[in-house]
Amino acid sequence: LGPRLVKGALYTYVRPEQTKEFELLAVSPRAMKDLGISPEEENNEEFKEAVSGNKIISWDESKPEEGVYPWAQCYGGYQFGQWAGQLGDGRAISLFETTNPATGTRYEIQLKGAGRTPYSRFADGKAVLRSSLREFVVSEALNALGIPTTRALSLTFLPNARVVRERIEPGAIVARFAQTWIRIGTFDLPRARGDRKLVRKLAEYVAEEVYGGWDKLPGALPDKKEGEEQDWLNVSTGVGKDEIQGKDNDAQNRFARLYRQIARKNATTVAAWQAYGFMNGVLNTDNTSILGLSIDFGPFAFMDKFDPTYTPNHDDAMLRYSYRNQPSIIWWNLVRLGESLGEMIGAGDWCDDKEFAEEGVRQEKADELVARAENLIEKTGDEYKGVFMTEYKRLMTARLGLKQAKQSDFDELYSELLDTMENIGLDFNHTFRRLSSFKMGDLESDEQRKEAATRLFPKTGLEREEDESKERMAKWLKKWRERMWEDWGEEEEEPRIEAMKKVNPKFIPRGWLLDEVIERVEKKGERDILKGVMGMALDPFKEEWGWNREEEERFCGDVPKYKSGLQCSCSS
Ligand code: AMP
Ligand code: MG
Ligand code: MG
Repeated sequence: LGPRLVKGALYTYVRPEQTKEFELLAVSPRAMKDLGISPEEENNEEFKEAVSGNKIISWDESKPEEGVYPWAQCYGGYQFGQWAGQLGDGRAISLFETTNPATGTRYEIQLKGAGRTPYSRFADGKAVLRSSLREFVVSEALNALGIPTTRALSLTFLPNARVVRERIEPGAIVARFAQTWIRIGTFDLPRARGDRKLVRKLAEYVAEEVYGGWDKLPGALPDKKEGEEQDWLNVSTGVGKDEIQGKDNDAQNRFARLYRQIARKNATTVAAWQAYGFMNGVLNTDNTSILGLSIDFGPFAFMDKFDPTYTPNHDDAMLRYSYRNQPSIIWWNLVRLGESLGEMIGAGDWCDDKEFAEEGVRQEKADELVARAENLIEKTGDEYKGVFMTEYKRLMTARLGLKQAKQSDFDELYSELLDTMENIGLDFNHTFRRLSSFKMGDLESDEQRKEAATRLFPKTGLEREEDESKERMAKWLKKWRERMWEDWGEEEEEPRIEAMKKVNPKFIPRGWLLDEVIERVEKKGERDILKGVMGMALDPFKEEWGWNREEEERFCGDVPKYKSGLQCSCSS
């Protein structure tokens, strides 16, 4: 079987492989709830058969015209900056869409690791337990942190699958779901093939089905209901309404508006990644969601010791996907999308469906339109930066316990804290959580501040000499205290501590602890631990979880020496 090229279509019907031996290891209770599935289903045989690919519940052989047959998506992508041609879902098969009646949100459910598809190229369509467990936990952890992401419903173990990687490993299937699995790469492919009609059709689909309609995009004049404040921007941050409603025609073009909204969604998500120290590790265009979801979890990591040049991807020698590059790489990917949409963005609304369908736009005209689009892509870049900064500042302000963002906070407070963390070797997320429980009353004198500084230090030691580090951290604590005083004055300590703990997680699914969980599940046959860790991931801001106090504290404590900043290779 060689690779199959699929043209003029964006998916292929394909059936998951059946497996005799499988074991449902865990479900995410939060996912069950969000999909509107009752918790008892976890013990139902049909549920287990469905999430392991053994039973297609949306389609019945005796009534083939009804129902939905599973499918795999076709897409392309730029990998490490190079055009890679057709990729597609090589080991993911979508089962059906479902809408939770309580929330009205529609999701596409898919299985990852359930066998080959026409897009598997030379690979096996399988996933190992190791990477599947990581995806299962991190999807739900990101969601619980409030970071837009694809989700995970269940993890099924295939003990006898014998998947060949660097060694032979057992397999697994993750049942996962998302409002959409469309990526920038889904546009890249028809564009690279010059299939303009398909690009346009896809853009219309994304606007109407993923974003809920053209009228939901920025720039559309709102459907004003009497006396109602309309949240028509549909994102938490961004430029003001005046600019959005833009006087220029470009801003009113519907494809331009779609493009801008996709950029804004992605800006919001990258800002959250930066604020929580999350790295995807392989931000190729096929791993960049059209809805700004965190998507495709391979060598991802959360930052341990703060180091902006860190990449969790072992094969990323150029540091292309390092922490500090994420915002600009997502923008690089968005420029590729702008190029795909260029002709339509440049055309303005005169390029109506009829004209496009009947004649198309002549090539020389198309080039002219693309040139016009460049200007708008550039403007969208400014907007992307603006949304990113606004959201990043909002999150950092909250993480530092401040009530209001001040212009000067950026340099004087966060940059200085980040530099200090990097310089003396402090853990990114631990530092914020530990700061959360500091009492301002304990930071009054130099002596107190020095003592407090040591409470931020890992017991495993620092990169820099203790005394010098204490001084530097104490200096920052002084500034922070002054700034807190401005916002909180003599108010009680407790409400502030509580507010900070709500945005500064105690639990983060770090590489070292995921490795331990994998080892214990795979080699030692432990089962409860996965449930315990999922419980922590679903409620990361809690103080304790009630499954095993000792394990909980260890998993939330200092990263064991030599297990900090681990890297992963892509063989998953
Ligand atoms: P990724 O690096 O995870 O974004 O994957 C890049 C491409 O390789 C996608 O088209 C995947 O579906 C495909 N792929 C990765 N692993 C496998 C596998 N084991 N079997 C089939 N396709 C795979
Ligand atoms: Mg991918
Ligand atoms: Mg992947």
